[in-house]
Amino acid sequence: MVIVMKPGTAQKDIQALAEEFEAKGFSVGITNGVGCSILGLVGDTTSLDIDKISINPHVERVVRVQEPYKKANRKFHPEDTVIRIGNAVIGGGNFSMIAGPCSVESEAQIVEVAKDVKAAGASLLRGGAFKPRTSPYSFQGMGEDGLNLLLKAKAATGLPIVTELMSPKYVDLFEEKVDVVQIGARNMQNFDLLKEVGRMSKPILLKRGLSSSYEEWIMSAEYIMSEGNENVILCERGIRTFETYTRNTLDVSAIPAVKRMSHLPVIVDPSHAAGMSWMVEPLAMAAIAVGADGLIIEVHNDPPHAKCDGQQSLTPNQFTGLMGKVAGMVHMAGKTLCR
Ligand code: PEP
Ligand code: MN
Repeated sequence: MVIVMKPGTAQKDIQALAEEFEAKGFSVGITNGVGCSILGLVGDTTSLDIDKISINPHVERVVRVQEPYKKANRKFHPEDTVIRIGNAVIGGGNFSMIAGPCSVESEAQIVEVAKDVKAAGASLLRGGAFKPRTSPYSFQGMGEDGLNLLLKAKAATGLPIVTELMSPKYVDLFEEKVDVVQIGARNMQNFDLLKEVGRMSKPILLKRGLSSSYEEWIMSAEYIMSEGNENVILCERGIRTFETYTRNTLDVSAIPAVKRMSHLPVIVDPSHAAGMSWMVEPLAMAAIAVGADGLIIEVHNDPPHAKCDGQQSLTPNQFTGLMGKVAGMVHMAGKTLCR
C-alpha cells in the first residue's frame, strides 16, 4: 500500500504516521520526492481501511498495490481450485452441468426432470425450495418439503442436489440435506449469511450480485473462505444494465477476468441472464468459449405451467439438444465434460 502525503507536510508528521503503521507490524519505507513524500507499507494490508487512513489531514491519497482479498487471490494460490461433488468435477480443466427446474413443485415434477437431465448428461440437480421472489405474493417455494422432494429425486437418480439458502436459520437443515449450497444474487452481500456458510462443510455456489463488481463478488467469496470453507464456486448470472430486451446482460468478460483474479472455478447461468429459453443455447456456447467451468441451466417438464421462470426454462428435449452442443464446445475448449 502506498500513502501519498500532502505537499509541504512536516517530516515529524510523516514520521508519526510511519510509526503508527510500524506499531501495527508493517515495515514502512519513506521516500521524499520533490514537493511530496510517500510511505510504502509492506505487510498484509488486507485489514487496512483506505477511508480511515485518508482521514489523516496530511494524507493526499492512498493506493492499494495489492488486492484486498487473499484466500481467493490467484497470486497466492496459482493453481485452479477443483471442486468434486459425486461425479461432478468443477475447475482445473473439468466441466460439469447443473440442471433442473427453477423451483421444486411436486414429487412427480422433480423426479421426472431429475431423470431426464441425468439421462441427458447433467451431473448435478438444481431446484429451489426457498425462493427469493421480487413480490411477496409470488410462489415462495415449498420450503423444507421441497428439500425432501429433492432428496427423493437424488435417491431416484444419484444426482447430488444444489439449492438456495436464504436464511442463516436453515443452515443446519442444509448441512444435513443438501450437497451444494447456493447463495443467490440478491444475497451476495448478506455478510452474516456468508459467514454462516463459511462454517459449513458443503461447497458453496456463490452467484454474482445484480450490480456487483468483480472485486465485490470475490470479496464475498473471501468472506466465506475466511471462515474456513474454501470450496466456493462462482456463478456469473447476468447483471443489470440499461438494456431491457434481456432479463439481465450476461457479462462474458467476467469469466476470463475473474479466473485471472482468482483460482476459484467460475460457472455460468445463461437462463437467468437471458430470461428467454431460446437464448440459453447461444449464451451457453459463449460461456464455454470464454472459459466457464460449468453451466447451470433451468429445465422444466412443462414450462408454460411452471410456478417460476417458465419463460427461460428448457424442456427436457431441448436440454438434451443443448447437451450435444455443450459436449462439442467443451471438447473444443480443451476441457473434460464430467457426467
Ligand atoms: C435461481 O437460481 O433460481 C435464482 C433465483 O437465481 P439468481 O439468484 O441468480 O437470481
Ligand atoms: Mn429461476
